[in-house]
Order: sequence, then structure tokens, then C-alpha cells
Amino acid sequence: MTQKPIDILGLTCRLCVRLAAARGVPRPEAIAAYRRAFRTGRPDVDWISLPQVTIGESLAEGNTMKLGLTLGDGRETECVVLPQSSRTGRPRNTLCLSAQIGCARGCVFCQTARMGLVRSLTAAEIVAQWHTARFSLGTDISNIVFMGMGEPLDNLDEVIQAIRIFADHDGPAIPASRISVSTVGLPRSIARLATLAKEPGLRRLGLAVSLNAPNDEVRSRLMPVNRIAPMAVLREAMLAWPVGNRGRILIEYVLIPGVNDAPEHAKQLGDYLRPLKCTLNVIPYNPTGDLPWPSPRPEQVGRFIDRVIDYGILVKRRRTIGRSISGACGQLAGRRVGSGVR
Ligand code: SAH
Repeated sequence: MTQKPIDILGLTCRLCVRLAAARGVPRPEAIAAYRRAFRTGRPDVDWISLPQVTIGESLAEGNTMKLGLTLGDGRETECVVLPQSSRTGRPRNTLCLSAQIGCARGCVFCQTARMGLVRSLTAAEIVAQWHTARFSLGTDISNIVFMGMGEPLDNLDEVIQAIRIFADHDGPAIPASRISVSTVGLPRSIARLATLAKEPGLRRLGLAVSLNAPNDEVRSRLMPVNRIAPMAVLREAMLAWPVGNRGRILIEYVLIPGVNDAPEHAKQLGDYLRPLKCTLNVIPYNPTGDLPWPSPRPEQVGRFIDRVIDYGILVKRRRTIGRSISGACGQLAGRRVGSGVR
């Protein structure tokens, strides 16, 4: 009986070796094929298959590239390749991955939320985004962030498996310190991810939390998740995150004029963040769809940042890139939403 080939992108090397053994493939051969699949893009053996993904609509703005991928069932997902400035001059790229198609979390400012949840991606489909960016586009990927479509912690098993594969020495071999998971802030799932981040080989996994508000009142309006997991509970989960000596949690804060950018908001934010070992990442709001808010002006962003710095918080301003290709934060939603086709 001929068996179906093994879909390798969802497997760690260990698991691949085990499945290969069941087919009589010796261990060294299985390891070699696994390495080839992840290092050259082609396993070159008939017992391994790569998932059927095809590159759909892809758009570029400078070196930033939004990649549409059509999956086996015809659905589309998106990922974004973001070039990083590098001190050594070697090109470095961050790959912003999707964990789901659409999202169930309903944040009011986010375009992806408007799709609702279509479905979660498998670990193989998550890793396929890396495989395509790496081998079909030929980009070197040095960092991975789960900041594309969806809520990674609503698809935690597959996301954890994908992280194990990315970090696999025989696979992409991306150190956990260069992988970050961004979440709306689900305390129990953060605790589960913290357990993973304590495993040898996965220490220093990055956690990013989309806070986006200075207090529960504003946050519950923007992010329905806050009604079940208020900020105090979220902070407890963040305090338990294993940051280690050099690590910090990244706190994302989408700055929306007239909503969360008042002087007292900067103070409340400072007070909330002070006990945490964190860096605040202020993201200028990208207008989406027919939402009423404008983007903040650069001086508004600067003023807010200066105030938070005065409260003793380390702040980074996020560059806005990819807006013209709808590849910026909160703009990933497939072609249909926002383009008026639906
Ligand atoms: N669900 C996860 C992963 C998505 S990351 C999370 O919420 O963290 C997407 C990031 O983009 C989040 O920090 C989100 O707050 C931000 N974002 C969403 N819509 C945005 C918009 N319109 N402008 C700027 N940032 C936005």
C-alpha cells in the first residue's frame, strides 16, 4: 500500500524521524531530508510533501512586502516581510505571520476583526508562510513576530508547535529570542506560553501585549477582551512572564487621537506599566475602513511619548511602514474587507 507523503512543515525533526521510522526510513536519512526541506526548500524524497500553498496577490512598498498565500482549501492568509535596519550591514528581515484567517476578538480599531474568525491555521500553514517567504521569495528571515492576522493565543496549540519548528536546530533554527508572540492579553494562555518560554531552547521567547489603553474604561470600549480579562488580571500574568536578565515584555499601544492620547492617559499608563519590565511601543493608528478616527500627527505622537518617558517608562516609536499596501498594523484583512467587494 502506498502511503500519503508526510506533510513536513508541521513537524519538528524529532516527530519527522518518528514518522519516517514507521515507514522504514532510517534515522540519518530522515534527519538529512528534514534539513534539506528547511535549508534548501526541497526535501528531494518522495515520502515528504510540502503543503499546497500558492502565492496569491502580493504587494510591495519599498522593501516591505505583503504576501498573500492561498491555502489548500482555497482560503487566503497574509504575511508581511519587514526589512530591519542592521548595524552590521547584513540584510535582516522580520516576518510578520498570521495565526488565523480573520479573528474573533473584535477590537474596534482593527481591520482583521471585521472579517470575524474564518478559521485557525495549522502549524504547517503557519510555517508555510516562512517557507514561502524564505524559498519562493528568497528572503533571509532573522526574526518572526506573530503579529499578522488573528489572535495567536486563540490558536495556541498550533502556534506552540510552529514555534518549536522555527526554533528546531535541524529546521529554520531561529532562536526563541528572535520570535515574539503578540496577544490581545489572555491571562491564562499567557501563563501557558510562559511554561513554554521556560523550556531549554525556548527561553527568551518574546511576549508582546496589545494594551492600547490606559485604563479599563477605555480598554473595554476598544477591546472586548478586557471585559473578561481586565487590566489588573492581565498585569498579574505579565508579572509572571519569565523575562530573564535582558528580556522585556513589549507593550503595544495604538495611539488614537481623542481616544487614548490625553495627558492623563500618559500618567495612567505610566502608573500601570511601572511595576513591569517592559518596553512601550507606541504605534500611530492606521486608519482602516470607514472608522471615524484620523491618524495622529507626528507631533501628537511625540508629545504622548515624551509624557510617558517622563513617567519613567522605556518607549519605542514604531515606524509606520507598509501602509500603502495595507500591510501595516491592523490592516491585514484579505482583499475583500475594505475594498468594497463584499
Ligand atoms: N491579536 C494579536 C496579534 C495582532 S498584532 C494582538 O492583538 O496583539 C496586530 C497589532 O496591530 C496589535 O498590536 C494591534 O493593536 C495593532 N493594530 C490593530 N489595528 C491597528 C490599526 N488600525 N492601526 C495601528 N495598529 C493597529
